[in-house]
Amino acid sequence: MNLKPGENMPENASSQAKPAAPKALGQQLTYQQVLESIPGIVFLIDAKGRLLAWNRNLEEFAGIDHEALTGIDLTEVVHPADRVNIQKKSRAILRSGHPDSAEVRLVTRRKQRSPIFMVHGSRVCLEGKKCIIGIALDQSAVKVVEQELALARKMLMERNESLRIINQLHHRLQRCHEVDCVLQATLTTLKEYHRLSRFGIFLYTPETRNFSLAASHGFDIAMSREGALLPSSGSLTGVALTQGGLAFSNNIGLDPRLDPRVRQILLERGIEAALVIPLLHASRPLGSLNLIFDKDPHLSENELNTLLAIGAAVSNSLVNVQRLKELQIQSYQDKLTGLPKRLLLHEQFGRIADDMEAQSWSTALLLLNLEHFREINHNLGHAVGDSLLRHIALRLKALVDKTQGGRLFRLDGAEFLVLLPEVTAIEPIMDFAQALLDTLNKPFETSSLHLEVSGNIGITIAPRDGNDSRTLLRCADIALSDARQQARKISLYSRTLDHHTGEHRNLLVEIGHAIRNKNFCLHYQPQLDLGNNRVVGFEALVRWQHPRLGLLLPANFLPLTEMTEDIHRLSREILHLGLTELRRWSESGQKYTLSLNLSARNLQDERYLDDLAKQLREGGLPPEAIELEIIESALAGQSQNSIRLLARLHELGIRLAIDSFGATHSSLALLRHLPVTTLKIDQSFIQGITEHKEDAVIVRSTIDLAHNLGMRVVAKGVEQSETLNLLRDMGCDLIQGNHYCPPKPWREIERWLSQT
Ligand code: C2E
Ligand code: MG
Repeated sequence: MNLKPGENMPENASSQAKPAAPKALGQQLTYQQVLESIPGIVFLIDAKGRLLAWNRNLEEFAGIDHEALTGIDLTEVVHPADRVNIQKKSRAILRSGHPDSAEVRLVTRRKQRSPIFMVHGSRVCLEGKKCIIGIALDQSAVKVVEQELALARKMLMERNESLRIINQLHHRLQRCHEVDCVLQATLTTLKEYHRLSRFGIFLYTPETRNFSLAASHGFDIAMSREGALLPSSGSLTGVALTQGGLAFSNNIGLDPRLDPRVRQILLERGIEAALVIPLLHASRPLGSLNLIFDKDPHLSENELNTLLAIGAAVSNSLVNVQRLKELQIQSYQDKLTGLPKRLLLHEQFGRIADDMEAQSWSTALLLLNLEHFREINHNLGHAVGDSLLRHIALRLKALVDKTQGGRLFRLDGAEFLVLLPEVTAIEPIMDFAQALLDTLNKPFETSSLHLEVSGNIGITIAPRDGNDSRTLLRCADIALSDARQQARKISLYSRTLDHHTGEHRNLLVEIGHAIRNKNFCLHYQPQLDLGNNRVVGFEALVRWQHPRLGLLLPANFLPLTEMTEDIHRLSREILHLGLTELRRWSESGQKYTLSLNLSARNLQDERYLDDLAKQLREGGLPPEAIELEIIESALAGQSQNSIRLLARLHELGIRLAIDSFGATHSSLALLRHLPVTTLKIDQSFIQGITEHKEDAVIVRSTIDLAHNLGMRVVAKGVEQSETLNLLRDMGCDLIQGNHYCPPKPWREIERWLSQT
């Protein structure tokens, strides 16, 4: 070996070598030159660890000059903590002869640092003695990279865990429709987060402005009880909510932000740190996630962000659940009356039907409709209408609550439904329906008004009439339509009432064909002028000459037709028939007036008016010979269009009569606003005037009122001569009725006229 003990190679030996004739590499370089060129420390130590030889890198690194290094123990430049290890390794190498390596911190005198070196040692024999030749390479750069890598790995793992946890939470929350589910999902997820061992979920109650503990993990019983309620001010939770961010305390014993009572509870349990994650939605407090720690957990930024993300996910879910609940309530519960709605009826009926089948009992559905409710809204305003509905709902509910399992629903507007399960006979149902109507008849005091309402009830029985709620509602609706025509105002569904079944459905299909085939004709009922006892005009009443069913009255087909567009074609056909007749009268010099009935839907049909005007023009007919009769209920609440149409009729000189005046409600406002020329008093009043004083008073007053307003009065449905005489005394202008002459085809009227 060229390396002399205690000697260094001359500096830069290799660079000083003069260019010479090519020699073998071994001949050009000394060992010392080779060692000096190695970018690390090279040393030779004896069996006792004393330095025998070294390269200049050791001197430079250790900051010790050559002489001072000579003969000292290598361990003097080794960090004290690594000395034992290096001695052990050296002994092993000397003993076994197997090279070995170790990471060692070397110390330098010049700088206060101990960089890590990787030291490789091998046994060599020098002049018969075992020595170790070693090389130490600086690992600082490698260590920095390694540390950075470890940090990056740690962050990556943390992020991975965050992502996994947040994903997991989202996944669980997605399936939640209830607050409890949100709490459970949050609890389970937080439990899986290894940094957390004790936490509580608090929910905010706006009414008390408190946070109450809704779920917890790791809280003992006393803690759950005593810390169950947190105030919204003077607590760390309150701070988090106000700031809208995390509130952290790593020394709760001295933190003034904590509620003293809570601080005490926590300190008693050796808890030093607490973190509150606010649960907020658009600055509205929903609750908080409160985490507590024995010691400051030194949560990383990433961990804090994860907790914030958890808070945001839980807040969203709580809001979603709340909205879902609100939507459910909205679709199931009527806001105005608090009663369950139609949807709930449909949903619950499935169960009721199953019970019905199992127990073989029946259920009654009573559909109650309030009369003239539209007009109440129209004339008194919706606030009064709403208040009245609330009162009505309360009264009906009080009655329904007395029944065995009865339930009250509000369907639409002024429609209520009572469901009576376990019914065994019809009579008690009818009695109950009557009781419902009776309770309505007592006046309601609302908005300083005494309002009286009346109603109609259609009844259907399940499973007799059907066993699903939709079918049954349809049946109840049909019965309700019939109830409106009944004196008792109550009707029980039967198949014969059903316009959509059997014959009625056929009629609906046949009607278009019948119009084309001219199967409709008019019957005429004379109107007698009580002043001069002369027939002054006729009301035209439509009939359907049905090939199979014979002569059909309007009640058999008109309500059906009004549900379809056929009503317009039929009305124009009637107009055509009537005006043809009127032209014949006029051509033969008879100056009769013609009254035609209009349905509500005609008031929306501009074409009807155009046709009428055209035919009057073409036939050279005087417009005042025509009177259009519209039933009172069809006039109430008409659109601006319909009102314009009525005004046009008036401008044309056509007269307008309110038909069946008094039959429904008498809105005097109608008389003021519409160009009405005639009032036709409903036959229900007329027929009673000889027996009921009240009817007589009403009729007399109506006649006076009409006259004062410049209208003429027609009394219809006169069936007795006494009635006719009384009407004459009352000053009624015209009468119509079977007593005088029932409606007949024109041919027969002609005969009748010639006989009178
Ligand atoms: P309305 O306008 O009240 O017609 C009077 C109804 O009373 C007619 O029934 C008539 O036959 C009946 N009547 C006449 N005198 C008496 C009587 O002394 N006692 C009784 N109990 N009834 C009497 P009809 O022909 O069955 O018509 C029923 C309803 O059908 C009419 O009531 C009217 O609202 C409607 N209607 C009739 N023809 C037409 C029409 O061409 N177009 C429209 N849109 N509706 C019509
Ligand atoms: Mg009429």
